[in-house]
Amino acid sequence: MNLEELKEKQMAQMKKKDCLPKDQIEVVLHLVEEVGEVAEAIRENQSKEDFENEVADVLWQLNKLAWIRGINLEEVFLRKLKKNEER
Ligand SMILES: [Mg+2]
Repeated sequence: MNLEELKEKQMAQMKKKDCLPKDQIEVVLHLVEEVGEVAEAIRENQSKEDFENEVADVLWQLNKLAWIRGINLEEVFLRKLKKNEER
């Protein structure tokens, strides 16, 4: 499963639960919060599973932002990779 498929799967689940994201500022705040939880997991030497869950939470929020903004994360990332390669 690729990134876009993961995003679509997540959004289908959120739609089913009637909780599709609407406010991008709210999503960004959640994204920052989740990044903080990743840092906390490292600082507190939490279990690998807890750390992985926090990393997944970051992707969850990033997917929401990408969905609201109509961004294909794979395309954007590949473009960035190519740009960095050419530097
Ligand atoms: Mg979390």
